[in-house]
This record gives sequence, structure tokens and C-alpha cells, in this order.
Amino acid sequence: ESIQVRDLAEKMGKTPAEIVKKLMELGTMATINQEIDFDTVEIVASLFGVDVEREISEEEKILEEIIDTEETLQPRSPIVTVMGHVDHGKTSLLDRIRQADVASGEAGGITQHIGAYQVTVNGNRITFIDTPGHAAFTAMRARGANLTDLVILVVAADDGVMPQTVEAINHIKAADVPFVVALNKMDKNDVNPDKVMQQLTEYNIVPEEWGGDTMFIPVSAKTGLGIEDLLERVLLIAEIHDLRANPHRLAEGVVIEGELDKGRGAVATVLVQKGTLRTGDYLICGTNWCKVRTMTDYRGRRVEEAYPSMPVEITGWSDVPEAGEKVQACDEKIAKEITNLRLNEKKLEEQKKNSRISLDDFFKQMQDADVKELNLIIKGDVQGSVEALASSLLRLNALEVKVNVIHSAVGAVTETDVMLASASNAIIIGFNVRPDVKARRYAEEENIDVRLYRVIYEAIEDVKKAMEGLLDPEY
Ligand code: GDP
Repeated sequence: ESIQVRDLAEKMGKTPAEIVKKLMELGTMATINQEIDFDTVEIVASLFGVDVEREISEEEKILEEIIDTEETLQPRSPIVTVMGHVDHGKTSLLDRIRQADVASGEAGGITQHIGAYQVTVNGNRITFIDTPGHAAFTAMRARGANLTDLVILVVAADDGVMPQTVEAINHIKAADVPFVVALNKMDKNDVNPDKVMQQLTEYNIVPEEWGGDTMFIPVSAKTGLGIEDLLERVLLIAEIHDLRANPHRLAEGVVIEGELDKGRGAVATVLVQKGTLRTGDYLICGTNWCKVRTMTDYRGRRVEEAYPSMPVEITGWSDVPEAGEKVQACDEKIAKEITNLRLNEKKLEEQKKNSRISLDDFFKQMQDADVKELNLIIKGDVQGSVEALASSLLRLNALEVKVNVIHSAVGAVTETDVMLASASNAIIIGFNVRPDVKARRYAEEENIDVRLYRVIYEAIEDVKKAMEGLLDPEY
């Protein structure tokens, strides 16, 4: 869903420079090769008084969105994730809730670990995602799967707000999901719930009894104190949010976890979000497809159908799917067609990535004659050093190889720098600065060479050596 500045200019009958100028006015640094997304195209076009229409991709054409009309929607159970600082009792709480249900529940209550389970409270079900931790939550969000309806933020009442509590709060706020605070370990002697509440007000989390809008529930995962209360509150919040889905359609869902099982091959737990999933259905999931061979619920019982908010373990996959990936049921022909489309796309993507340049193999690629220019992005801690570095590097310009500094600025290496590097096949040089977390992750994904230096001379030496083919690979 993107277009290069060059192509956009051509389509619009403008010069690339005109487009780049408009982009800069919008605060986006762009080169002529830069890919820009549809939303940006729309804005730029509107500045020129032009209306644009999105081309529908082949995949979208095949998978026409089914509109779930109001009449088709039926209530579904809330999907809950537990988050909080390490050792504050996330696992214990999940275990306690599950046991409580097993004890009260139906016969043969041995639960299986499939990554999620359901409990029944006063005749209503709640689905718990059984992999506590922010990584899972964020991985799913990163893939666009806003699966969680509600978060239980666990804070140990004896320990209070800790770094991962804050991290969890940030994730919750970024995802804009409702949450309740479970003040855990209330059975202990040295607890101070008031202090925890006070600490949380610093993050704009204010308990209802202090005039805020956050529910705080004292619990003990150890003794079971407050657990029922917690579950009832969860249901209350779910009711307020009126969670509904259409069960009468082909299923859609998200993978919670996947693994290769010795006996059963690729297995994955899918949480159904819409529709009803049946054995024998065909599923697409990333570049995988599946003919659902068996479905098992969290109690290890075979089921033939899975409804919205229900987790099931599925066998029959072409390969192991990854957590967070979307799953969609469709007919057999479409499943295979789309899988092929996606595989081709992935191949192209890989080829693009593999052709990315790194300083280490620059000389080799240069000899293979497909690279005659070295594009650099320079980031540094102060203007003086950025300028010094840029001009020294430009002085390395040899006849055979041209050094281009396509962007230089003061500051940490950011995601935007990596995007720019990726779009222009550039190497990033950081002087006395580091990439931020997002930039680092993105650089890894995109195979962008980010080199960090504390001595200007060393940076220059490395680039020089690379140009001469003398650079030792970094280990
Ligand atoms: P997690 O890292 O957040 O999943 O925390 P765990 O569930 O592994 O619990 C960490 C430690 O705290 C374990 O030793 C638990 O037994 C203990 N623990 C958890 N909940 C309670 C509780 O309510 N009361 C007491 N006294 N200990 C608890």
C-alpha cells in the first residue's frame, strides 16, 4: 500500500521536487525513492487539489469484507489479559482463577495449557489469555490484532509500582483498553494498598473511592481472597462495553500460540473473534493455510465448533503459525490462492531485504558492479561533529565510488532514519548516539546496517576500508 515519490510525481504530472517539497512542509523528510503510504499520498494530493482513490489489491478483491449488520451481532464473552511486574503474581492469579473454575465446574476438570482458557462466573463466561506478559500483548498489537477487551493490572500490595508496572500502564494506554487494578498479595502482613493507590495516581490512575474511574480490587492469589469479586467486576466492565460478534459467518480469529508437536505436527491455539469455526474449514494465516483436522478446547475435549471468544487448539496446518497472526476461514480454492499470493509477496520482500547493503559486503557488491554509490545517513550528538564527520566522509569520494550523505542531523537514530535508509539503501552512522528501541527493532527487521562510533577517526577508517574492500566483518 505505498508508492515511490518518483512514481507518484509521474502519476500526478508533477516533478518529484514538488512532491518532496510538499512532504517536507508536512514534516516528512523524503527522497525521490522514498515509499510513501496511502494516507500520506491522500494528503499530498489534496494539497495539489487532486482526489486519489486506493487501488484494491488482489487479495482484498478475493476476501471481500463481510458486513456484520446490527441484527447479526450477538453477545460474546470478554477476552482478558493479565499484566504487571514480574513476581507480582500474574501466573498465580491465572492459576487460581482456573482452579476455582475447575473446582466449581464440570466433571473431568483437568485443564490443558493451550494459551487461553475460559471460566464461568454466574452463568457468564470470561476468556483469559494464559500467557502473561507484555511481550505477547504487544506482539499481537504490533500485528494489528487488538484482541484484548480488558486488562487486569496486577500490582503486589507489598511491593507497589515497579518498572514493569509502568511499562504495562503505557501499553494499556497505548492500546486504549479498559482495565482494573488487582492489588495482589493482600494476605501478607506488610502490605500497604493506600501507598500503591497513591503511587498510581502519578500515572493518572485514580481509584473510584477517590473520585477517579478505576476499579481497585484487593485480592490474594494465594488464599483466593477477592477473586470472585474481581471476576464479577470484569463481567461488569464487559457488560458496559457491550461486546458482540456475528457467529453466523466464516470465522476470523488470532493465533495465540503455535508449536510443532512431535505427534500431531503443527498445532496452534486460535482465539475466534467472529463467526463460527468448524472442523473441515479451510483457514489462511499469513503464508500458512490449514484444513482444520481437529479442534480441542482448554479442557482437552474435542469440539466440532468454536464460537466468538472461544480459544481452540487446532491441528492441520501447513506450517506453524506465529502468535498474533490473523486467521481467516474461507473456501479451499481461495485459501490456496491467497497463500500463494502471500508467498510470492514474501519472496519479493526477502529478495529486497537481502539486496540491502551493509558496510561489510559493500566492497564485494561493488566488485559485482551493482553498487557504485555509498549512501550514508549520519546522526551525531552535536552539530559540530555531524558536520565534521559528513565532510570527512565526503572527502573519501573516489572515482569509482561516490559517497552520498543523504541525511545528517543531531539526535538519536530514529525509526524515520531507518525508514529513510531502507528506502534509499543507505548505511546509518551514529556518532555518540544510539538507536532508540523502535529504530533498533526496525533496523533488524529491515536488515539495515547501523554503525555506532565514539571516535570520528574510526568511522572514517571503516568507511574507507569498506571502499577498499578491507573491512573485517563485525562479530
Ligand atoms: P508473576 O511473575 O507475576 O507471574 O508472579 P508469580 O505468580 O510467579 O508469583 C511470584 C511469587 O509470588 C510466587 O512465589 C508466588 O507464590 C507469590 N505470590 C503470588 N501471589 C501471591 C499472593 O497473593 N500472596 C502471597 N503471599 N504470595 C503470592
